Amino acid sequence: LNRSLRGFGSTIFAEMSALAVKTGAINLGQGFPDTDGPESVREAAVKALRDGRGNQYPPGPGVPELRTAITEHQQRFYGLTFDPDTEVLVTAGATEAIAASMLALLEPGDEVIAFEPFYDSYAASIAMAGATRVPLTLRAPDFRPDLDALRDAITPRTRLLLLNSPHNPTGMVLTRDEVTAIAALAVEHDLLVVTDEVYEHVVFDGEHVPLISLPGMRDRTVSISSSGKTFSFTGWKVGWVTASASLVAAVRTAKQYLTYVSAGPFQYAVAEALRLPGSYFAGFRDDLRGKRDLLSDGLAAAGFEVHRPQGTYFVTTDITPLGEKDGPAFCLGLPERCGVVAVPNAVFYDDPDAGRTLVRFAFCKRHDVLEEAASRLRRLA
Ligand code: PMP
Ligand code: GLN
Repeated sequence: LNRSLRGFGSTIFAEMSALAVKTGAINLGQGFPDTDGPESVREAAVKALRDGRGNQYPPGPGVPELRTAITEHQQRFYGLTFDPDTEVLVTAGATEAIAASMLALLEPGDEVIAFEPFYDSYAASIAMAGATRVPLTLRAPDFRPDLDALRDAITPRTRLLLLNSPHNPTGMVLTRDEVTAIAALAVEHDLLVVTDEVYEHVVFDGEHVPLISLPGMRDRTVSISSSGKTFSFTGWKVGWVTASASLVAAVRTAKQYLTYVSAGPFQYAVAEALRLPGSYFAGFRDDLRGKRDLLSDGLAAAGFEVHRPQGTYFVTTDITPLGEKDGPAFCLGLPERCGVVAVPNAVFYDDPDAGRTLVRFAFCKRHDVLEEAASRLRRLA
Protein backbone atom coordinates (compact mmCIF):
# COMPACT_ATOMS: atom_id res chain seq x y z
CA LEU A 1 0.00 0.00 0.00
CA ASN A 2 1.45 3.37 -0.92
CA ARG A 3 2.13 6.01 1.67
CA SER A 4 -0.90 8.17 0.90
CA LEU A 5 -3.30 5.32 1.72
CA ARG A 6 -1.51 3.92 4.73
CA GLY A 7 -3.77 3.89 7.76
CA PHE A 8 -7.00 3.84 5.76
CA GLY A 9 -7.50 0.05 6.00
CA SER A 10 -11.11 -1.05 5.58
CA THR A 11 -14.00 1.34 6.05
CA ILE A 12 -15.97 1.37 9.28
CA PHE A 13 -19.14 0.67 7.26
CA ALA A 14 -17.82 -2.62 5.87
CA GLU A 15 -16.56 -3.59 9.32
CA MET A 16 -19.78 -2.87 11.15
CA SER A 17 -21.99 -4.44 8.45
CA ALA A 18 -19.85 -7.59 8.67
CA LEU A 19 -20.36 -7.56 12.44
CA ALA A 20 -24.13 -7.28 11.92
CA VAL A 21 -24.12 -10.27 9.56
CA LYS A 22 -21.95 -12.30 11.91
CA THR A 23 -24.05 -11.63 15.02
CA GLY A 24 -27.47 -11.40 13.36
CA ALA A 25 -27.95 -7.99 15.00
CA ILE A 26 -30.16 -5.21 13.60
CA ASN A 27 -27.85 -3.10 11.43
CA LEU A 28 -28.28 0.58 12.27
CA GLY A 29 -24.61 1.13 11.37
CA GLN A 30 -24.07 1.56 7.64
CA GLY A 31 -26.52 4.01 6.09
CA PHE A 32 -28.59 2.11 3.56
CA PRO A 33 -32.37 1.72 3.44
CA ASP A 34 -33.95 -1.70 4.02
CA THR A 35 -36.69 -0.90 1.50
CA ASP A 36 -35.87 -0.32 -2.15
CA GLY A 37 -36.94 2.83 -3.99
CA PRO A 38 -40.02 3.29 -6.22
CA GLU A 39 -41.28 0.39 -8.30
CA SER A 40 -41.60 2.60 -11.39
CA VAL A 41 -37.91 3.45 -11.18
CA ARG A 42 -36.95 -0.21 -10.84
CA GLU A 43 -39.12 -0.98 -13.86
CA ALA A 44 -37.35 1.75 -15.82
CA ALA A 45 -34.00 0.06 -15.09
CA VAL A 46 -35.32 -3.33 -16.22
CA LYS A 47 -36.79 -1.77 -19.35
CA ALA A 48 -33.50 -0.06 -20.20
CA LEU A 49 -31.65 -3.36 -19.85
CA ARG A 50 -34.21 -5.19 -22.02
CA ASP A 51 -34.28 -2.45 -24.64
CA GLY A 52 -30.51 -2.48 -24.88
CA ARG A 53 -30.14 1.07 -23.65
CA GLY A 54 -26.83 1.52 -21.87
CA ASN A 55 -25.67 -2.08 -22.17
CA GLN A 56 -22.60 -0.87 -24.04
CA TYR A 57 -20.34 2.01 -22.95
CA PRO A 58 -22.49 5.07 -22.45
CA PRO A 59 -21.07 8.54 -23.20
CA GLY A 60 -18.35 9.68 -20.79
CA PRO A 61 -20.29 12.57 -19.24
CA GLY A 62 -23.39 10.40 -18.77
CA VAL A 63 -26.37 9.61 -21.00
CA PRO A 64 -28.04 12.79 -22.34
CA GLU A 65 -31.43 11.81 -20.83
CA LEU A 66 -29.94 11.77 -17.34
CA ARG A 67 -27.90 14.94 -17.80
CA THR A 68 -31.04 16.75 -18.92
CA ALA A 69 -33.03 15.35 -15.99
CA ILE A 70 -30.33 16.55 -13.58
CA THR A 71 -30.52 20.08 -14.98
CA GLU A 72 -34.33 20.00 -14.71
CA HIS A 73 -34.04 18.91 -11.07
CA GLN A 74 -31.65 21.78 -10.29
CA GLN A 75 -34.08 24.18 -11.95
CA ARG A 76 -37.18 22.77 -10.26
CA PHE A 77 -35.84 22.71 -6.69
CA TYR A 78 -33.35 25.58 -6.66
CA GLY A 79 -34.01 27.73 -9.73
CA LEU A 80 -30.48 26.95 -10.97
CA THR A 81 -29.72 26.71 -14.68
CA PHE A 82 -27.06 24.35 -16.02
CA ASP A 83 -26.14 23.35 -19.56
CA PRO A 84 -26.64 19.56 -19.79
CA ASP A 85 -23.86 19.28 -22.38
CA THR A 86 -21.07 21.08 -20.56
CA GLU A 87 -22.07 21.63 -16.93
CA VAL A 88 -23.11 18.15 -15.77
CA LEU A 89 -21.12 14.99 -15.17
CA VAL A 90 -22.55 11.61 -14.17
CA THR A 91 -20.32 9.68 -11.76
CA ALA A 92 -20.18 6.30 -10.02
CA GLY A 93 -21.95 7.64 -6.94
CA ALA A 94 -21.06 10.75 -4.99
CA THR A 95 -17.99 8.90 -3.75
CA GLU A 96 -16.39 8.94 -7.20
CA ALA A 97 -17.42 12.55 -7.70
CA ILE A 98 -15.62 13.50 -4.48
CA ALA A 99 -12.48 11.53 -5.34
CA ALA A 100 -12.39 12.82 -8.94
CA SER A 101 -12.86 16.40 -7.70
CA MET A 102 -9.95 16.09 -5.28
CA LEU A 103 -7.70 14.48 -7.90
CA ALA A 104 -8.64 17.08 -10.51
CA LEU A 105 -8.47 20.24 -8.43
CA LEU A 106 -5.68 19.76 -5.89
CA GLU A 107 -1.91 20.00 -6.08
CA PRO A 108 0.33 18.21 -3.60
CA GLY A 109 0.71 20.43 -0.55
CA ASP A 110 -2.62 22.20 -1.00
CA GLU A 111 -4.80 22.45 2.08
CA VAL A 112 -8.45 21.41 2.15
CA ILE A 113 -10.71 22.56 4.96
CA ALA A 114 -13.49 20.11 5.80
CA PHE A 115 -15.99 19.79 8.61
CA GLU A 116 -14.99 17.18 11.16
CA PRO A 117 -16.43 14.59 11.81
CA PHE A 118 -16.25 13.80 8.10
CA TYR A 119 -17.64 11.10 5.84
CA ASP A 120 -14.74 8.69 5.65
CA SER A 121 -13.97 8.97 1.93
CA TYR A 122 -13.01 12.65 2.30
CA ALA A 123 -9.79 12.00 4.18
CA ALA A 124 -8.75 9.23 1.79
CA SER A 125 -9.59 11.27 -1.33
CA ILE A 126 -7.65 14.28 -0.08
CA ALA A 127 -4.71 12.02 0.78
CA MET A 128 -4.76 10.33 -2.65
CA ALA A 129 -4.47 13.79 -4.19
CA GLY A 130 -1.40 14.45 -2.05
CA ALA A 131 -3.11 17.32 -0.26
CA THR A 132 -3.53 18.02 3.44
CA ARG A 133 -6.82 18.08 5.28
CA VAL A 134 -7.52 20.77 7.82
CA PRO A 135 -10.46 19.85 10.05
CA LEU A 136 -13.03 22.34 11.25
CA THR A 137 -14.56 20.58 14.21
CA LEU A 138 -18.33 20.64 14.68
CA ARG A 139 -19.09 20.41 18.38
CA ALA A 140 -22.03 19.07 20.37
CA PRO A 141 -24.75 19.83 21.22
CA ASP A 142 -25.82 21.45 17.94
CA PHE A 143 -22.74 20.93 15.75
CA ARG A 144 -22.91 24.40 14.18
CA PRO A 145 -19.73 25.43 12.33
CA ASP A 146 -17.62 28.07 14.06
CA LEU A 147 -17.23 30.63 11.28
CA ASP A 148 -14.46 32.50 13.10
CA ALA A 149 -12.53 29.25 13.33
CA LEU A 150 -13.14 28.74 9.62
CA ARG A 151 -11.69 32.16 8.86
CA ASP A 152 -8.69 31.39 11.08
CA ALA A 153 -8.12 28.04 9.36
CA ILE A 154 -7.65 29.66 5.95
CA THR A 155 -3.98 30.03 4.98
CA PRO A 156 -2.21 30.95 1.74
CA ARG A 157 -2.08 27.20 0.99
CA THR A 158 -5.84 26.69 1.32
CA ARG A 159 -7.15 25.62 -2.07
CA LEU A 160 -10.64 24.44 -1.35
CA LEU A 161 -13.42 23.89 1.14
CA LEU A 162 -15.03 20.45 1.11
CA LEU A 163 -18.45 20.95 2.64
CA ASN A 164 -21.28 18.60 3.49
CA SER A 165 -24.79 19.77 4.36
CA PRO A 166 -27.03 18.10 5.45
CA HIS A 167 -24.11 16.70 7.38
CA ASN A 168 -23.25 13.05 7.94
CA PRO A 169 -22.90 11.97 10.76
CA THR A 170 -24.17 14.88 12.91
CA GLY A 171 -27.40 15.73 11.02
CA MET A 172 -26.51 19.45 11.06
CA VAL A 173 -28.03 21.48 8.21
CA LEU A 174 -26.32 24.77 7.33
CA THR A 175 -28.61 27.79 7.58
CA ARG A 176 -28.92 30.33 4.80
CA ASP A 177 -26.90 32.77 6.94
CA GLU A 178 -24.12 30.26 7.42
CA VAL A 179 -24.02 29.37 3.72
CA THR A 180 -23.92 33.08 2.89
CA ALA A 181 -21.04 33.68 5.29
CA ILE A 182 -19.09 30.69 3.95
CA ALA A 183 -19.63 31.86 0.38
CA ALA A 184 -18.33 35.33 1.29
CA LEU A 185 -15.18 33.80 2.76
CA ALA A 186 -14.66 31.67 -0.36
CA VAL A 187 -14.94 34.75 -2.57
CA GLU A 188 -12.71 36.84 -0.31
CA HIS A 189 -9.95 34.19 -0.31
CA ASP A 190 -10.53 32.99 -3.87
CA LEU A 191 -11.24 29.40 -2.82
CA LEU A 192 -12.90 26.57 -4.67
CA VAL A 193 -15.74 24.81 -2.86
CA VAL A 194 -16.82 21.22 -3.30
CA THR A 195 -20.23 20.56 -1.76
CA ASP A 196 -21.51 17.11 -0.91
CA GLU A 197 -25.29 17.46 -1.03
CA VAL A 198 -26.31 13.80 -1.11
CA TYR A 199 -28.90 14.40 1.65
CA GLU A 200 -30.39 17.46 -0.08
CA HIS A 201 -33.89 15.94 0.11
CA VAL A 202 -33.60 14.75 3.71
CA VAL A 203 -34.09 18.02 5.60
CA PHE A 204 -36.59 18.05 8.49
CA ASP A 205 -35.88 21.45 10.04
CA GLY A 206 -34.73 24.36 7.89
CA GLU A 207 -34.03 24.20 4.17
CA HIS A 208 -31.29 22.98 1.89
CA VAL A 209 -29.47 25.96 0.37
CA PRO A 210 -27.01 24.94 -2.37
CA LEU A 211 -23.83 26.96 -1.95
CA ILE A 212 -23.55 27.30 -5.72
CA SER A 213 -26.71 29.46 -5.66
CA LEU A 214 -24.96 32.26 -3.73
CA PRO A 215 -23.39 35.34 -5.30
CA GLY A 216 -19.89 34.71 -6.61
CA MET A 217 -20.17 30.94 -6.20
CA ARG A 218 -21.43 29.78 -9.61
CA ASP A 219 -17.93 29.48 -11.08
CA ARG A 220 -16.08 28.28 -8.01
CA THR A 221 -18.37 25.52 -6.70
CA VAL A 222 -18.50 21.84 -7.59
CA SER A 223 -21.90 20.63 -6.44
CA ILE A 224 -22.25 16.89 -5.86
CA SER A 225 -25.29 14.70 -5.29
CA SER A 226 -26.42 11.13 -5.73
CA SER A 227 -29.45 8.99 -6.45
CA GLY A 228 -28.47 6.55 -3.72
CA LYS A 229 -30.02 8.53 -0.87
CA THR A 230 -32.86 10.39 -2.57
CA PHE A 231 -34.30 7.35 -4.33
CA SER A 232 -33.16 4.56 -2.01
CA PHE A 233 -30.99 2.76 -4.53
CA THR A 234 -27.58 2.92 -2.86
CA GLY A 235 -26.43 -0.12 -4.83
CA TRP A 236 -26.86 1.54 -8.21
CA LYS A 237 -24.08 4.05 -7.61
CA VAL A 238 -25.35 6.83 -9.84
CA GLY A 239 -24.13 10.24 -8.71
CA TRP A 240 -23.46 13.53 -10.42
CA VAL A 241 -21.64 16.83 -10.48
CA THR A 242 -23.09 20.17 -11.53
CA ALA A 243 -20.65 23.06 -11.95
CA SER A 244 -19.25 25.52 -14.48
CA ALA A 245 -18.03 24.05 -17.77
CA SER A 246 -14.38 24.42 -16.81
CA LEU A 247 -14.77 22.74 -13.42
CA VAL A 248 -16.85 19.93 -14.93
CA ALA A 249 -14.19 19.46 -17.61
CA ALA A 250 -11.52 19.14 -14.90
CA VAL A 251 -13.48 16.59 -12.86
CA ARG A 252 -14.42 14.71 -16.03
CA THR A 253 -10.76 14.36 -16.93
CA ALA A 254 -10.07 12.61 -13.62
CA LYS A 255 -13.24 10.49 -13.83
CA GLN A 256 -12.23 9.41 -17.32
CA TYR A 257 -9.26 7.51 -15.90
CA LEU A 258 -10.95 6.23 -12.76
CA THR A 259 -14.00 4.48 -14.22
CA TYR A 260 -14.07 5.89 -17.79
CA VAL A 261 -17.90 5.89 -17.72
CA SER A 262 -20.61 4.91 -15.22
CA ALA A 263 -22.91 1.90 -15.68
CA GLY A 264 -25.51 2.58 -18.38
CA PRO A 265 -28.98 1.15 -17.73
CA PHE A 266 -29.35 2.66 -14.24
CA GLN A 267 -28.72 6.10 -15.68
CA TYR A 268 -31.96 5.90 -17.69
CA ALA A 269 -33.83 4.81 -14.58
CA VAL A 270 -32.42 7.65 -12.48
CA ALA A 271 -33.47 10.10 -15.20
CA GLU A 272 -37.05 8.92 -14.59
CA ALA A 273 -36.61 9.12 -10.83
CA LEU A 274 -35.49 12.74 -10.99
CA ARG A 275 -38.75 13.56 -12.77
CA LEU A 276 -40.96 12.09 -10.03
CA PRO A 277 -43.59 14.53 -8.78
CA GLY A 278 -42.96 16.78 -5.77
CA SER A 279 -45.14 14.47 -3.68
CA TYR A 280 -42.49 11.74 -3.95
CA PHE A 281 -39.79 13.97 -2.48
CA ALA A 282 -42.08 15.31 0.28
CA GLY A 283 -43.33 11.82 1.13
CA PHE A 284 -39.79 10.45 1.32
CA ARG A 285 -38.78 13.22 3.70
CA ASP A 286 -41.90 12.99 5.87
CA ASP A 287 -41.52 9.24 6.22
CA LEU A 288 -37.94 9.72 7.40
CA ARG A 289 -39.02 12.45 9.80
CA GLY A 290 -41.35 9.95 11.51
CA LYS A 291 -38.48 7.47 11.68
CA ARG A 292 -36.15 10.08 13.09
CA ASP A 293 -38.62 10.76 15.87
CA LEU A 294 -39.30 7.10 16.53
CA LEU A 295 -35.63 6.18 16.90
CA SER A 296 -34.65 9.41 18.70
CA ASP A 297 -37.40 8.87 21.28
CA GLY A 298 -36.38 5.22 21.64
CA LEU A 299 -32.75 6.14 22.19
CA ALA A 300 -33.69 8.79 24.75
CA ALA A 301 -35.86 6.24 26.60
CA ALA A 302 -32.88 3.87 26.61
CA GLY A 303 -30.79 6.52 28.37
CA PHE A 304 -28.75 8.01 25.53
CA GLU A 305 -28.29 11.75 25.16
CA VAL A 306 -29.83 12.33 21.74
CA HIS A 307 -28.71 15.02 19.29
CA ARG A 308 -31.86 15.04 17.17
CA PRO A 309 -30.76 15.68 13.57
CA GLN A 310 -32.11 18.49 11.37
CA GLY A 311 -31.40 16.37 8.30
CA THR A 312 -29.87 13.11 6.96
CA TYR A 313 -30.96 9.69 8.12
CA PHE A 314 -28.54 9.45 11.02
CA VAL A 315 -28.93 10.35 14.67
CA THR A 316 -25.85 11.03 16.78
CA THR A 317 -26.04 10.16 20.47
CA ASP A 318 -23.79 10.57 23.47
CA ILE A 319 -23.27 7.46 25.58
CA THR A 320 -21.99 9.29 28.67
CA PRO A 321 -25.35 9.12 30.53
CA LEU A 322 -25.17 5.31 30.19
CA GLY A 323 -21.93 5.39 32.18
CA GLU A 324 -19.94 4.67 29.01
CA LYS A 325 -16.83 6.52 27.87
CA ASP A 326 -15.56 4.81 24.74
CA GLY A 327 -17.71 4.76 21.58
CA PRO A 328 -15.60 2.28 19.58
CA ALA A 329 -15.59 -0.26 22.44
CA PHE A 330 -19.29 0.35 23.10
CA CYS A 331 -20.15 -0.32 19.43
CA LEU A 332 -18.07 -3.51 19.34
CA GLY A 333 -19.94 -4.83 22.38
CA LEU A 334 -23.42 -3.62 21.42
CA PRO A 335 -24.47 -6.57 19.19
CA GLU A 336 -23.66 -8.99 22.00
CA ARG A 337 -25.37 -6.88 24.67
CA CYS A 338 -28.59 -6.10 22.83
CA GLY A 339 -28.50 -7.16 19.18
CA VAL A 340 -28.03 -3.75 17.56
CA VAL A 341 -25.15 -2.41 15.42
CA ALA A 342 -24.17 1.28 15.44
CA VAL A 343 -21.14 3.26 14.28
CA PRO A 344 -18.70 5.09 16.60
CA ASN A 345 -18.35 8.71 15.48
CA ALA A 346 -14.74 8.69 16.71
CA VAL A 347 -13.65 7.17 13.39
CA PHE A 348 -14.82 10.31 11.58
CA TYR A 349 -12.40 12.60 13.46
CA ASP A 350 -8.68 13.24 13.04
CA ASP A 351 -8.51 13.39 16.80
CA PRO A 352 -10.62 10.41 17.90
CA ASP A 353 -10.88 11.87 21.41
CA ALA A 354 -13.03 14.65 19.99
CA GLY A 355 -15.86 12.22 19.26
CA ARG A 356 -14.98 9.51 21.77
CA THR A 357 -18.41 9.30 23.43
CA LEU A 358 -20.52 9.83 20.30
CA VAL A 359 -22.31 7.00 18.52
CA ARG A 360 -24.34 7.14 15.30
CA PHE A 361 -27.51 5.20 14.49
CA ALA A 362 -29.11 5.04 11.02
CA PHE A 363 -32.91 5.27 10.88
CA CYS A 364 -33.53 4.58 7.16
CA LYS A 365 -35.18 1.33 8.20
CA ARG A 366 -38.73 -0.03 8.40
CA HIS A 367 -40.87 1.10 11.33
CA ASP A 368 -41.06 -2.39 12.82
CA VAL A 369 -37.29 -2.73 12.63
CA LEU A 370 -36.78 0.60 14.40
CA GLU A 371 -39.35 -0.33 17.06
CA GLU A 372 -37.62 -3.64 17.68
CA ALA A 373 -34.23 -1.90 17.83
CA ALA A 374 -35.60 0.67 20.30
CA SER A 375 -37.00 -2.05 22.52
CA ARG A 376 -33.69 -3.96 22.45
CA LEU A 377 -31.77 -0.79 23.28
CA ARG A 378 -33.94 -0.27 26.36
CA ARG A 379 -32.13 -3.28 27.85
CA LEU A 380 -29.22 -0.91 28.35
CA ALA A 381 -31.17 1.48 30.55
N1 PMP B 1 -21.33 11.60 1.00
C1 PMP B 1 -21.96 11.36 2.14
C2 PMP B 1 -22.02 12.43 3.18
C3 PMP B 1 -22.55 10.12 2.36
O1 PMP B 1 -23.14 9.87 3.52
C4 PMP B 1 -22.49 9.16 1.36
C5 PMP B 1 -23.12 7.87 1.60
N2 PMP B 1 -23.02 6.89 1.64
C6 PMP B 1 -21.82 9.45 0.17
C7 PMP B 1 -21.26 10.69 0.02
C8 PMP B 1 -21.64 8.46 -0.93
O2 PMP B 1 -22.65 8.42 -1.81
P1 PMP B 1 -22.66 7.36 -3.02
O3 PMP B 1 -23.18 6.09 -2.45
O4 PMP B 1 -23.52 7.97 -4.02
O5 PMP B 1 -21.26 7.20 -3.48
N1 GLN C 1 -22.76 6.85 3.61
C1 GLN C 1 -23.18 5.68 4.29
C2 GLN C 1 -22.95 5.88 5.75
O1 GLN C 1 -22.46 6.89 6.15
C3 GLN C 1 -22.45 4.43 3.86
C4 GLN C 1 -21.54 4.55 2.71
C5 GLN C 1 -20.51 3.50 2.66
O2 GLN C 1 -20.70 2.38 3.11
N2 GLN C 1 -19.38 3.85 2.14
O3 GLN C 1 -23.25 4.99 6.50
